[in-house]
Amino acid sequence: MKKFLFTAFFIPVFVFSQTQQKCGNSQYLNKNKNLKTASEQTINDIYETIKTKTQSDTILKIPVVVHVVYENTQENINDSLILNQIEVLNRDYRRQNPDTINTRSVFDSLAVDTKIEFCLATTDPFGQPTSGITRTQTTETSFIDLSFNLDKVKSSTTGGKDAWPVDKYLNIWVCDLSINILGTNAPFVLGFAYPPVGAPNWPPGSTPTNQMFDGVVVHYEVFGENNPLSTLSFSGITITANKGRICVHEVGHYLGLRHIWGDGDCSQDDGILDTPKSDSQSDFQCDFTKNSCLDLPFDFPDMIENYMDYSSEDCQNSFTKGQKNIMRTSLETIRLPLISGSCSGGATNIEKENSFIKVYPNPSKGLININSDIKIEEIEGFSIEGKKLFYYKPNTKNTNINCKKITKGIIFIKIKNKKETILVKQIIK
Ligand code: ZN
Ligand code: CA
Repeated sequence: MKKFLFTAFFIPVFVFSQTQQKCGNSQYLNKNKNLKTASEQTINDIYETIKTKTQSDTILKIPVVVHVVYENTQENINDSLILNQIEVLNRDYRRQNPDTINTRSVFDSLAVDTKIEFCLATTDPFGQPTSGITRTQTTETSFIDLSFNLDKVKSSTTGGKDAWPVDKYLNIWVCDLSINILGTNAPFVLGFAYPPVGAPNWPPGSTPTNQMFDGVVVHYEVFGENNPLSTLSFSGITITANKGRICVHEVGHYLGLRHIWGDGDCSQDDGILDTPKSDSQSDFQCDFTKNSCLDLPFDFPDMIENYMDYSSEDCQNSFTKGQKNIMRTSLETIRLPLISGSCSGGATNIEKENSFIKVYPNPSKGLININSDIKIEEIEGFSIEGKKLFYYKPNTKNTNINCKKITKGIIFIKIKNKKETILVKQIIK
């Protein structure tokens, strides 16, 4: 796909049909080999974790901040589109979308409710109440450039808006990602997202500066459902992306999902067992006859219903069980601090309010007491990178854990009983 990228700049007439991409994820990975290795490594780590972990099935809620970065009034999209995009995320991730009836029966057993939800953050990084929306005026006419840098919007030094703490909030930037070719704006990339970062084997050179670029970017014309600008035309070719599903797709990447065609032919896989193989992306089409690879033992058609394809938004309506497992595991390991159980963004306190579970002292020199009103079922410790440090099943109301051998700094402790699960940010001195 990289070759199309270069074609774009020299033979504009082909731009829209040949190069218009739903998302910049594949090109970005191709461009940055280190990142590709690291991304694959991260995903492998997640798979390893899945193999050894029993999946939870509670609702996992992600606080979101939407950064609108605009040069003109059109780009300064209305609050209603933002509220709607959050609704669409919830609808599609909870499988409450009305078009699930269009999922072909052959996929009935695969398509699931991921039990992941989203809410606009209610507390900003300084502990102040917020709408979860920021607005920044810029002089930048576009946030994609010829070197395919899609991070400019994420820093105030390059005309964008700095992220809120990336471990506590899902940052979504909404801006202009079109390229001006011979005086006409071509919406070249509609969205972009990084897979989970911070895995133990993240390569040298991935500095905190990169980590602050974690999050999702969406082109302003396709953000929210029925966005009045969502019919995009260039060189006589028109596509419509009016169902808010570009953002659904990008958040899928953010939670660890690869494209359903594995970014290659039938020999390439997305690493998820239950998604059928496919030799190519579906090019904004709804071709129900497409069956490009033989699946064994049962040959499924290509799953154009999947949000991680590039099919038309009209026929996308599903995530699979395997995709659900990857996303939830990302949230329960690498992205654990994100799921604080509230929309506060975890900025000030990620312990659940009014919890009957008490953890003390905090900070601690290593010996941590945990008291609960009913029996504690599980205690799990994670490093700030999401690496599992310990796991106990105490089956008592009161217990303690000895963390003296653990490196000093911040760790996360997840404590579960029959009534509640809390996540505590614990400091070891
Ligand atoms: Zn993508
Ligand atoms: Ca097939």
